[in-house]
Order: sequence, then C-alpha cells, then structure tokens
Amino acid sequence: MNSKYEAVIGLEVHAQLSTESKIFCGCSTKFGSAPNSNVCPICLGHPGVLPVLNKKVVEYAVLMGLATNCKIRERSTFARKNYFYPDSPKGWQTSQFDEPICENGFLEVTTSDGEKHHLRINRIHMEEDAGKSIHDKGSETLVDLNRTGVPLIEIVSEPDMRSAEEAYLYLTQLKQILTYLDICDGNMEEGSLRCDANVSIRLKGETELGTKAEVKNMNSFKNVEKAINVEIARQIDIVEDGGRIIQQTLLWDADLEDVFPMRSKEESHDYRYFPEPDLMPVLINDGWRNEIAKSLPELPEKRKNRFVTEFKLPEYDAEVLTSSRQLADYYEKVIFVTSDYKSASNWIMGEVLKVLKEDKIDITDFPLSAENLGKLIELINNNTISGQIAKDIFPEMLKTNEDPAKIVKEKNLVQITDISELEGIINTIILNNQAQVQQYLSGKESVIGFFVGQVMKASQGKANPKAVNELLKKQLDEQK
Ligand SMILES: [Zn+2]
Repeated sequence: MNSKYEAVIGLEVHAQLSTESKIFCGCSTKFGSAPNSNVCPICLGHPGVLPVLNKKVVEYAVLMGLATNCKIRERSTFARKNYFYPDSPKGWQTSQFDEPICENGFLEVTTSDGEKHHLRINRIHMEEDAGKSIHDKGSETLVDLNRTGVPLIEIVSEPDMRSAEEAYLYLTQLKQILTYLDICDGNMEEGSLRCDANVSIRLKGETELGTKAEVKNMNSFKNVEKAINVEIARQIDIVEDGGRIIQQTLLWDADLEDVFPMRSKEESHDYRYFPEPDLMPVLINDGWRNEIAKSLPELPEKRKNRFVTEFKLPEYDAEVLTSSRQLADYYEKVIFVTSDYKSASNWIMGEVLKVLKEDKIDITDFPLSAENLGKLIELINNNTISGQIAKDIFPEMLKTNEDPAKIVKEKNLVQITDISELEGIINTIILNNQAQVQQYLSGKESVIGFFVGQVMKASQGKANPKAVNELLKKQLDEQK
C-alpha cells in the first residue's frame, strides 16, 4: 500500500442462527427443503397476522454478545426496515434499529507482525432473513420463501481495522466463536455467514473518515481479504489521479478478482425505520442473562491458552487444534487415552488434518474414533509397534475404525524388540553388505541409515528402530 495512506475498514457480518424454527413463526429452518414448503401466513406476510418472537433467538444473540464482551441491553426493541423487494413479502424486514440487543463489545486479534489490535464491536442485533430470488432457471426469476424469517444476528464492528489482515483475523475469530457457541455453522460458501466490508482510505494522521464504499458478495474468508486489498488499491489509485471516492456498493467477483459497482449506497434514512408495533420490547433481567451465561462454553482464545499451559503444546499446535470446537474436543478425547500430548497433536495436525482436507470432510465426520487414535499412539509408546507400522495400518483404521491392537495382532505386526532376533537379522545384513561396512569403517557414518533401512525391510517394518540403531552401531563398531 502507498505509505501516505491508511485504510479504514469496518465489517458487517450476518450469521444465520441454527435454531429449529424461524424467528417469528413455527416454520422449519431446514435447508434444502422443496421451494416454498417451509412457509406460513406469518412468514409470507399475510395481512393481519402477528409475529411471536422465538426465545432461542434471543438466547443465542445474548450468548454471542457475552462471548464478544458486549453489554446486553435490558430493554431492546424491534423496528421495521422498509424496502420493496420480491423476496421480502411483507415489504419490510423486521430488524432492530436504535435499541439493539447487544452493544459495545470488542475482540482482540494479533497480526503476523505480533501487534495486538483491539477491535470494537458497535452492536449485535436480531433480524429476519429475506427469501431467495433465483435467476438462473430459465428466463424468469423465481422466488423461494423458505429462508424468509430465518433468524439472523448482524454483528457490526466499529471502523477500527487498518488492514485486510485485521479484517480477516476478526472474521475468523467471529466464526470460531459462533461455532464454539454452536449457534451458527459458520459456513460462508453456503451463506450461513455473510460479510460486507466498508472500506475507505485517508492520509495517515488524519482523523476524519473518508467516503466509504461497501464491498459485498465475498463467499470465503480469503476472498474477504483479497477484496479489501483490491478496494484499498482502487481507492488510492482514484485519489492519486486527483479523483474523488463516491459512496457506493461494489460486488466482488472472485473469478476476476476485482470489484464492480452495484448501486449507489443507501443511507439508513432511506429505509424509513420505524418501531415494530406488533412485537413487545425484549426485556432481559439479570436472572435470565446469568442463566444464559451459564451455558457459555470455554471460548477459543481461552482454550488455546489452556492447551499451551496444561498440555505444554507449542502456540502453533494449540492454535490449530482449537481452530474449531469439534477438533479441540477430538484432541481432548485422544489425550484421554494417551498422555502423550505432543504425539497426539502431531497425529492430528499431520495425518488427521490431511485426510480431512483430502476428503473435504469435517472432524465430526472423521471415521476414526479419538479413542482408537489414542490407542494407536499408546501402541507406539509401549513399543508394541513402530511408528512406521502405525502409519501403515492407519489407512485400514480409517476404513474399519477397528481397535489397532486387534489389527496388529491379526496381521502379526508386533514389533521385534527381542535382541537376539534382531541381532540375527543384523548379522545377515552386515555379512551381505561388506562394501557399506568398509565405508562405515572408513568414517562415513551416514551409511548407518542404509543399514537401518535394510533391517527394517528384512523385518517388514517390525524391528524397533531405536534398538536397531543401537545394535547396528555396536556390531559395526566391533568390526573396527
Ligand atoms: Zn412461517
């Protein structure tokens, strides 16, 4: 970035709450149902119907507020955000305006330069989702109202971010918290998490905000980061060429990696917000708030720190393992079986994550139970099998989720630790490879690797590598 300028970024994040039913009616929120099957007179906006607020939505919103250091309002109200759009049958969106349920929170992120950034959250409010217009089925536009009335929370940050990296980290942490709380699946590709970025630039040292553009349509975390960087560069180019930034909404095109104007940006007064007359104010007293607070799980940041102190894991391991609650749970189940904390971490960060990535599955769908992975690590640590054998039987364990001890026994893979048996194998190898023995004796000690390889081959990987190393050295040195 041109060093004269600094970027000012704020994010508006919509998270779809994973309640069973919609926010103001009893319709199912199930994804993938036949079009317009999860609807009723309330979410279709028929005249005269009355909405009833889903209590779970309030509890989820409060949970998110507590997890992001927000103040929970004792009294919050709904408002109508008026606009006409075919997928919003009521003609307004029921949202919250001047009295949102949560206010004044913050998150902390650490950028790659080691700097900590305190990023304020302006508000979190509850609202309903709109339906879906489908433009790619023939020449007409179709409307599916299944999503109409699905509960959302909108999390609005202050314009505190100064780089795309900060925005990326903030968003990543929000997603982590949402999934830890188990109130949103956090899937950006499927739209259950959506992020719009407000971006402006100004000369460094200036305190006034520049004119902002809103960037939409970013469907992955990486794309949010890319789009913000593209937009910052675009604005700097305009200003450097003597132009002015205009307030507008831009759409990110992930294929072209560029932004394109959509419409001039509305101001909030364009929506003619007014108080929702059909819904009572939401009153949250200390008792209810404390009750909700009791269900707060250990949050990612805290869990990460505990992994470092309690299990003596490197910061990096702890970060990866706590990236999702389910992965962290899996790890803790593995170390319930084995107390080899670091090996458990290595197996998960190596073999397990590799499979998850290749098969594009989540840890909750991982076929190998944590218990059996723990047992496998124990088999290595108590010298029943070598690390190599463990890696060899891992694919079979993935297929069958069989107790590794059983597989080892059935396939006769128990490690050879018997000294005389190993010595026998080693003697033969030494006898048959005299040229390498001479190399070793003339000082080329690295040739020991060749011998280890031969012994492992001869023993079909069952020889204990540590014992092989020691015995080989001893026997070779005896030839001196
Ligand atoms: Zn309904």
